[in-house]
Amino acid sequence: MKTPEPKQSPKALPKKKTPRNARSVESLAHFHCAHCGKWWSIGDAPQKKTLWHCPWCGITQKIT
Ligand SMILES: [Zn+2]
Repeated sequence: MKTPEPKQSPKALPKKKTPRNARSVESLAHFHCAHCGKWWSIGDAPQKKTLWHCPWCGITQKIT
């Protein structure tokens, strides 16, 4: 007669780590597309980057 397999207790499963509380601050840049007239925003956008791709109409343009 076979012995029944031991039941896995839920305690045997790896515990999910609870994420630590955290705060991060970002600067949000708002871009205006001259082609379609819509706005979009990017958090922590690099200042040196001047060529941006509008997510609305897909046109790459120079935005300083
Ligand atoms: Zn656009």
